[in-house]
Amino acid sequence: MANIAPRSLEPLHQQVSAIIPTHWYNLHADLPEPVPPHLHPGTQQPVQAQDLAAIFPPHLIEQELNTTDRYIEIPQTVREIYSNWRPAPLIRAGNLERELKTKAHIYLKYEGVSPTGSHKPNSAVAQAYFNSLDGFHTLTTETGAGQWGASLSMACALLGMTAEVWQVRASYESKPYRQMQMRTYGGICHSSPSDKTAAGRAILEQDPDTPGSLGMAISEAVEAAATQEGVNYALGSVLNHVLLHQTVIGQEAMLQLEKAGEANADTIFACAGGGSNLAGLTFPFIGKNLREGTNTRIVACEPAACPSMTRGDYTYDHGDIAGLTPLLKMYSLGKDFVPDPIHAGGLRYHGMAPMVSHAYHQGLLEARAYPQEQTFADGLVVARTEGIIPAPESTHAVAGALDYIRSGEARDGEVIVIGLSGNGVLDLPAYGTALGNDGQ
Ligand SMILES: *Cc1c(COP(=O)(O)O)cnc(C)c1O
Repeated sequence: MANIAPRSLEPLHQQVSAIIPTHWYNLHADLPEPVPPHLHPGTQQPVQAQDLAAIFPPHLIEQELNTTDRYIEIPQTVREIYSNWRPAPLIRAGNLERELKTKAHIYLKYEGVSPTGSHKPNSAVAQAYFNSLDGFHTLTTETGAGQWGASLSMACALLGMTAEVWQVRASYESKPYRQMQMRTYGGICHSSPSDKTAAGRAILEQDPDTPGSLGMAISEAVEAAATQEGVNYALGSVLNHVLLHQTVIGQEAMLQLEKAGEANADTIFACAGGGSNLAGLTFPFIGKNLREGTNTRIVACEPAACPSMTRGDYTYDHGDIAGLTPLLKMYSLGKDFVPDPIHAGGLRYHGMAPMVSHAYHQGLLEARAYPQEQTFADGLVVARTEGIIPAPESTHAVAGALDYIRSGEARDGEVIVIGLSGNGVLDLPAYGTALGNDGQ
């Protein structure tokens, strides 16, 4: 088997499309009220850089705690890797407009063109780059359905690092393609709980037949990072620096709308799990609303089975079951909340990113919840009019937009952007289940 070799971080000085942003956008700089800080789980005081140093590299800690710089430069090497699939297309969904008999202009901002089929590589590549720059050779992480584990494995391969992923056992067994994808990229994938960590061994001793959980997998990945030299931990959503990296999506969309002759987006729909694709697409527009008095309306679309914003409390809560992570001020259903098994694995997180929660609390965005039957039915409409099979997560954004248009709320000429965070090609069994036996 080919092993991953260390790789130079020097840029190749390739031509990179001018539509790919040169900087990430930091919404903190434009917010009228500051976001409540993360708290140390022991002292309950705002976290300091040194509290995070056991598992994150200096550059990412600086980004996590940066509340003042509006723009943070994207390293040229990262832009060159982005250019493998970016700019991601903004597609005018004319056929969908005809199907819905609407005079609104519908655009799809489509992140499913990345090598792993979602927006997650936007942050995975950045995180691998800064960890490598700061001298780390391995990144550990947890993954549920496998989108994040696969994206981090790819990013690590491109930057000469190793990814070690703990995947929730139930998904490891029921969704074999993602762990094959991780291993294809040279990543190491364990079924969690595993015998590789003290946390995993303790759980297995108690309950050898456990299906596993994200909370358990986080404990294993964090333990592996904290106890080994040269090894760090990477998170795929929720934290400020992850949301920051995703802002390439919205900045690109702004330029693409302009090129398409549209003055601005009127209404944007994005699905919300931990909040990273929503933030990435919409924070640049929220910043513009705040700075220039524009009026883009943002609708976060979450699953009715895991409604952290529409039904949760705004409170300090842990990010994981074991309570190892900092306390985050967020809309949360509680760290022990276990959602019904829905197909949109990426939307099953109990909390919402602190920056998204704050924006919601301040009235800068709205939130709605949709049941899975409705989201898959609307996902089929997009598949059959535009050819794109949306990821199960992304079908929530589609359901939000279609519900809005069908209700007659949309004006003629209104510019509606739907965030298609990924494609559903590796999730076809979920579509199969939704279709039933007659496939209609
Ligand atoms: C992981 C994932 C999500 C949910 O994560 P966010 O951080 O809320 O964006 C949404 N869509 C896809 C395709 C995903 O893979």
